Parts: sequence; structure tokens; C-alpha cells
Amino acid sequence: MIHEIQAKTALNKLKRKMPYAWDLNIYRGCVHNCHYCYALYSHQYLNNQNFFQDVYVKTNIVELLEKQLSSRNWKREIVNIGSVCDSYQPIEKKYRLMPQILKLMIKYKTPIIISTKSDLILRDFDLINELSQITYVNIAATITTMDEEVRKKLEPRGVPSLDRFKMLKAFRKTNASTGLHMMPIVPYLTDSSENFDKLFAAAKDAQVDYVLPGTLYLRSQTRKHFFEFLEKEFPELVSKYHKIYPGRKIGAIQNYKKEMYQKLKPLQFKYGLSSNYSKPIKEKLRKEEKQLRLF
Ligand code: SF4
Repeated sequence: MIHEIQAKTALNKLKRKMPYAWDLNIYRGCVHNCHYCYALYSHQYLNNQNFFQDVYVKTNIVELLEKQLSSRNWKREIVNIGSVCDSYQPIEKKYRLMPQILKLMIKYKTPIIISTKSDLILRDFDLINELSQITYVNIAATITTMDEEVRKKLEPRGVPSLDRFKMLKAFRKTNASTGLHMMPIVPYLTDSSENFDKLFAAAKDAQVDYVLPGTLYLRSQTRKHFFEFLEKEFPELVSKYHKIYPGRKIGAIQNYKKEMYQKLKPLQFKYGLSSNYSKPIKEKLRKEEKQLRLF
């Protein structure tokens, strides 16, 4: 069900600079239905338990954004678009808010980061290309597995992994940097060396600037939902998960993280892909500063 709401602000200032300082979310809730979704908690503020079914649309977001970007105080810091919920989930086909947001980013020369699981972003290719010619743009795809059977179970309404790689490849034709967010690494389902190797090979083929891996975190509602999912789809894994996430532990135990690091490190060398995602940001912004000094 779709709920139209009025937001109070478009950009939210983050407490920590990450390297982005602001985030912008058009939608609350997401139909991609990833069972590990860390954003499930956010629906509790709406008194709604149906994160995957009930999507709230901030219909006044474009107007609010222009107010913030046109302010004299706006310093053109990097905005992370869709940090909580995917901006290119299917509902965006109808509302078409992203093209309007991108036009404002172009007008106010504001650098952005977009992370998505959908190739709907290709609809806005020309606008993203235009923005990437004038400031920093990073396009990241979150991709967890090359095994479509596992992918369909974990992310039932996300687009196939190969289509996400095709999308990343397409953005090589722009001036945007691109990255693979290989997260979360889901124990026993996506953490084999074989899967990692295939993901790195596809990332290399798509010529991404970095590959950022991250293990699964199971906070509050996410933990509850994920264990229910395991009970239903992979009951044989439940006891194994209790060993990696004992008690109420949010992150995986250290031994597991160490094991993943040992699997991933050689692949970073093999494919020459670092996990440093702030390097392309710094390089691009330094170039921009230089150009500004010339005028
Ligand atoms: S795409 Fe992101 S926000 Fe949407 S369900 Fe998946 S993890 Fe959650």
C-alpha cells in the first residue's frame, strides 16, 4: 500500500562525516524485500510493522530540497541519496521524483552518492551523466551473490545480480565513479570463496572503482525477521547462526570476520580492486577545487 506524506525536511545532516555529510530518502519502506534489511527498524516510528508492503512517499521532497539547496548556507557537501530505503524501487516508476531531484543537484552543483539494487536508475542516465561532468557522483550497486536461486530467496523483489552489474558497466560511460557494495555477506548463503570470486570477476568486468564488502548485522527487528526467514527457508542453518550471532549479538563473532577477511584479501590483489571508496571521492573533489581556483 502506498501512503503519501509531507516531510519536514529533505536533507538530513549526519552526525558523522562518512565521507558524505547529508542524506536524503524519498521513500520509507521498500518492496525489494531483502530479508536482511537493516532499515526495518525505521517503520517503528510510523507505528507500522509492514516495511516491505507499506511504502510512504514524501511527495513534497522536491520543493523542500530546493529550499535547502538554494540557501546561502548550503556548502555543496556530498548527499547520500537512498541511504535508508532504495530510491529506485518500483514505486519510483510512478512518482518520478529522482529526475526532479537530479535536476536540482545539477542546478546547485551538488555532489551525490546513490546506492541501489535496481537498474531503474538507467532511466535517469542522461541526468546522472550531466551531473557527473560538473561534480562528484558515485553510483554503487549492492550485490550479494551470483547464485540466482539464493538471490531470489534473499532479495525476492530485487533485480537479478547480472542486471545490476550491467547497470554499473553502463555508468562507466559517464564521469561517475562506481562501486560494488558486497554487503551483507550472509553466512553459509553468500560467503563461499567461489561466490566471492565470481562477484570480484564481475566487478572487474564492470570496471568498478572499488569493492566494499561487509558482514551481516542483525539488529532488533532485522534479527527477528531474519531468523524467521531462516526457520522457513533454511531451518538447517538456524543453530549454526546462533553460533555466529550468539545471544543478542548484533555483529558476527570475530573469528567469522577474520575468516572472511582471509578469503577476501587475496581476491582484492588478484583483481586489483581495493575497498577504499573514499579515494575516488577525494580525487574528484580535489580536481574540482583546482578548477575553481583557476577562475
Ligand atoms: S533494497 Fe535496501 S531498503 Fe530495500 S529492502 Fe533491500 S536492503 Fe532494505
